[in-house]
Amino acid sequence: MAASAHLNSAGDADEQPLYAPAHKIYPQKVTGFYRRLKWSLLIGTLGVYYLLPFVRWQRGPNEPSQAVLVDLAHRRFFFFFIELWPQEVYFFTGLLILAALILFLMNAVAGRVWCGYLCPQTVWTDLFLAVERLVEGDRRERIQKDAGPLTPRRIGEKALKHAIWLMIAWWTGGAWVLYFADAPTLVVQLATLTAPPVAYAAIGVLTFTTYALAGHMREQVCLYMCPWPRIQAALTDESALNVTYRYDRGEPRHSLKKSISLRNLGQSAGDCIDCAQCVVVCPTGVDIREGASLGCIQCGLCIDACDSVMAKIGRPARLIAYDTDVNIKRRATGSKPVYRIVRPRTVLYTGLIALVGGVMLAALIGRGAYSMAVIHDRNPLFVRLADGSIRNAFTVRLVNKQSEIRQFRLSVSGLASATVEIIGAAPDSSGAESVDVGPDQTREVRVLVSTRLAPPVESQPIAFLAIGEKGETAATAKDFFHAP
Ligand code: SF4
Ligand code: SF4
Repeated sequence: MAASAHLNSAGDADEQPLYAPAHKIYPQKVTGFYRRLKWSLLIGTLGVYYLLPFVRWQRGPNEPSQAVLVDLAHRRFFFFFIELWPQEVYFFTGLLILAALILFLMNAVAGRVWCGYLCPQTVWTDLFLAVERLVEGDRRERIQKDAGPLTPRRIGEKALKHAIWLMIAWWTGGAWVLYFADAPTLVVQLATLTAPPVAYAAIGVLTFTTYALAGHMREQVCLYMCPWPRIQAALTDESALNVTYRYDRGEPRHSLKKSISLRNLGQSAGDCIDCAQCVVVCPTGVDIREGASLGCIQCGLCIDACDSVMAKIGRPARLIAYDTDVNIKRRATGSKPVYRIVRPRTVLYTGLIALVGGVMLAALIGRGAYSMAVIHDRNPLFVRLADGSIRNAFTVRLVNKQSEIRQFRLSVSGLASATVEIIGAAPDSSGAESVDVGPDQTREVRVLVSTRLAPPVESQPIAFLAIGEKGETAATAKDFFHAP
């Protein structure tokens, strides 16, 4: 352990450790409403994560039938009926903004509810703790065993626990890669050792990180590595619901025996009997009675523990409860508690979520099956031909999101007497130049736009039109025509 000499207020040398080793936490088993809620969410979220790659979704011929798929080879993302292309990356940006706003709203309503119930670190740590408890016993047993000798039985227990942890971690990594390829096919390839090496490498990395983070680092991730506790501390307000020890009810705390005798004498005694059950069940080792703490992930397990104690000693439940700072102050003055979920910041977050969600939905509904992007040649901006006409060159990218081949003609509007030449294009049945774009493909072509009538300005706005086989305008894109 590193140590350094400091001078204390009296001027004496004072040995202060600069590094404090982490104390192993042995969370005790607890039952109650919040524990059941956490089990339900754990089963739901892990069930979705492990099984979703096997859900099928028929999109038609030549299309993958996996409901959720990141198709890196064709650079596309499939999510049930939604198919996103690389040029639609703004949807991912929108999703990230939406996720952040939802997190802010959750925080404004009920503090770190994400951390306590839904964060992958919490969910996997909970699962690993359940395995540890199953193999090695509850808190007291585990403490005794860790302090005792390393007998063959103890080695066997440890080996079994780590083997189960590694198996879960391996499944976690295995499920992750299934999102990047056809899941049933990849499972067979993995089992027959014919999967791409990158799949094994990804599984190896994720197995290691899951095993290390959920099995060994646990609360250290929340306490030291995750930035969210610091961010949420800056975002919260005194009307947010947080797991709170109700001082007004709990203090002055005494042992059960002393509390009873004080009450028998007509003196006041708080409901807290200092049994420390709320502390021993805490997965991060926090004593909630000391007030708000960055270490508290708001999992509610101390509420369950204290409720059991209150039931046993015949006092009302919820000495520890989801409550607000406002109510702590109100209770101290004898006022009734108030709960204000609807307040400016929750209304603001809800409005922003509706706005971003609405814009994304409108963009999703309004997007076409085809699109076009145009890039003007940078140099030269224009050339004057021998017959006096002016020509500009462009690179046009056509996108066909349909599962069949499509043929497009190109025309330009906004430029008098414009002619359009597609380099390398073959004439279609009507003799016009057209471009074939394969199913679910993009195609880039060089396009020359010329005019004999020089535009009156140096830079004339024009629009490219991609005309489909039935004469319909399939896609448009804007650019400029440059002239001397
Ligand atoms: S579990 Fe309840 S009674 Fe026991 S120490 Fe914690 S707050 Fe006090
Ligand atoms: S103090 Fe209570 S709510 Fe906070 S992390 Fe510990 S058990 Fe969970």
